[in-house]
Formats: sequence, structure tokens, C-alpha cells
Amino acid sequence: MKSKHILNKMTPYQPGKQIEEVKREYGLDRIVELASNENPFGYSGKVADYLSSHKPALNIYPDGYTTELRRALANKLGVSENQLIFGNGTDEIVQMIGRAYLYPGANTVMAMPTFPQYKHNALVEGAEVKEVPTINGYHDLDGMLAAIDDKTNVIWLCSPNNPTGCLIPRDDLYRFMEKCPSDVLVVLDEAYFEYADKKLQPEILSYLEQYKNLVVLRTFSKAYGLAGLRIGYGITNPELIPGLDVVRGPFNTSSFAQQAALVALEDDEFIEDTVSRNNAIKKSFGQFLDSIGWHYFDSQTNFMLVSTPISGDRVFQYLQENGFIVRPGEGLGVSKTIRVTIGNETDMQDLQEVLYQLHTKINEGSLT
Ligand code: PMP
Repeated sequence: MKSKHILNKMTPYQPGKQIEEVKREYGLDRIVELASNENPFGYSGKVADYLSSHKPALNIYPDGYTTELRRALANKLGVSENQLIFGNGTDEIVQMIGRAYLYPGANTVMAMPTFPQYKHNALVEGAEVKEVPTINGYHDLDGMLAAIDDKTNVIWLCSPNNPTGCLIPRDDLYRFMEKCPSDVLVVLDEAYFEYADKKLQPEILSYLEQYKNLVVLRTFSKAYGLAGLRIGYGITNPELIPGLDVVRGPFNTSSFAQQAALVALEDDEFIEDTVSRNNAIKKSFGQFLDSIGWHYFDSQTNFMLVSTPISGDRVFQYLQENGFIVRPGEGLGVSKTIRVTIGNETDMQDLQEVLYQLHTKINEGSLT
């Protein structure tokens, strides 16, 4: 068969083990999943009520223009309807951008570590990937600008960055946009936007007019708690939308997802509650880590990248045996770390107990 050659050198995304499988393997009754940055508080009760009383007609295709959600979102964000594109999760928008802008002979610039789908999709399209190491988890924006050449088509900024959690400071971002060539598409992935401190964040949507090469990505998967429905969106200047629409599947977001997202948008209280609980739990987890002397990266998100005294894989293993699934940093490109999603109050208390035992074992030398 004659597929793209690159596919032979790439591996599919490896989902974590299924919870039931981990329970069986370690004889556990309870598993706490803290690996995928989902919302531990679920989703808006308004969405739950809506979905239990409204059943979309499943025999007809969804609205391929996402009309109602588009209108509501444009209103909420203060942008025009023709500035929006929807995806089956922002994952799909990342894929669309790759498909529309990347090809053999072109290159793309991104941080290292960052969200792996940028690289994955770029490689599938045959583009060269230029990775610029982060500095203490923060994007090295000058380094990224220096990596741009005349073959650079797309530059990916993930803010706050997954997996480090660090936010690109507002003025640094503005300076970057001033210096970035206007024919390089800048993708600002704000998947964790709702979690980040508004005082530190750029007012980026008001710059879309000025920076016509900018696409901002956001999602309903994280703070809105709708990861299972797969819906995210991009905001950009209207001239870029038709090109992205060409590579978009005609009915790429489901009726359920569109309706739930529309209702979720109306519940600001749920988001405020999620963010304030997350921040309180994150703060207390940080204090616990301070108490055992483990370093962690600045986080403006619902997860923390924690430096571990032994390999992240080993810590992951120990936590898994004790009923907690986190993400080992080795798989994310940052060895001797784990990425921990901030869970609910009880789960994080329990995690801290297990981490304390682990810390004691490491100090005693019984675990290396
Ligand atoms: N961007 C970042 C930075 C992410 O962390 C994620 C989810 N892990 C995504 C995009 C994709 O999110 P979704 O497809 O669920 O919208």
C-alpha cells in the first residue's frame, strides 16, 4: 500500500489505561483519574437539565454552520459570527490548521514541551518541526522568533502551556505579535483560558483586527467540563475562515455538542465556581509540595507539572498502584516530572497522603 511514508515512523496517540483495567490489575476498588486535565466538578447543572429534557433528532445531520452556538458565542466574545470556526474539540482545529497551512518544504515553530498534537499533525502533513525549549516552563518567545525563516508557515503558542501550566505574560505576547512576520500564522491555543488570571492575560480578541495572522483556540472540554462531547472553537479574522472551512468536515460537530455548549455558555456561575475551587485546591497542593520540598512550575491552569526526585515513570507507577493516575513527564518530554490534574478536595487530600508515603520511601532509600 502507498500511504504517506511518514506514517510508518509515527505512532498513534496512546490513551491511558482504562480505569476498569487498572482496578483489576492492582486489585483496587477506586481509581482517581488525574491525567487528562478534565473538570473534576463535572459540568453545568443547566446542561444536565437541558440534555435530560431535550433530545436532538439523531436521524438528521447536525447544523454544519453551528448557527445558534455561533451567534451566542460571537455575542459573548464581542466578535463577528464570521470570525469563528468550530471543531470536534480544538484537536480538530489543530488538525485543520495543519491541513490548510503545512506541507512538505514548509516548517512550523513550537515550544518544547508543549501540546503534542501540533507536532503530530505537522509531521503528518510532511512539514519540518522546529522546537524551541521553554525557559522554566515559559515560552522562549525571542528564541521562537529567531527560529522563524522564510519557510515558516505556522507558529504555535500554547498559553497557558500544556504541560508546564505557564501563561505567556500579556506584554510579552503583544511584543511578540509586533515582531512576528505578518505572513506567519500565529496560533494562540488558550484551551485553559478560563482558568488563567484575567489580570495577567492579554485582551487578545481586541487585537484580531490588527493582527490578521492570529488564530485563538478555546474549548468546552476543560473548565466547561464537556470533554466527552468534543467541541472547541477558533477565533480569527474573517479572511482566514473560508480556507479553514475548506478542510473542515461538513458536519464536524454533533447536535448534542452544539446544544450543550450553547447552554453551558449561559452558566458563568459554574465556570466561576470551578475556577475558584480549582485555585484553592491548587494552592493547597502547592503548599503540600513545598512542605515535602518538591518543585513545581507556575500554573495558570487546572494541572501542575511537578518535579520528582526519581523518574516520573516510577512515580507514576507508584501512584497507579495506589489508585491515582497521573501523566509521567517522560512521555511529555520533561523527564523527572509528573503532570497532575487538580482533582476535587477529597481526591487531592488522598493523593497528598500517598505522595507523602512515597516521599518518605524515597528519603529512606527504599524506593529509587
Ligand atoms: N490544546 C491544549 C493545550 C490541550 O491541553 C488540549 C487537551 N488536552 C487541547 C488543545 C485539545 O482539547 P479539545 O480537543 O478537547 O478541545
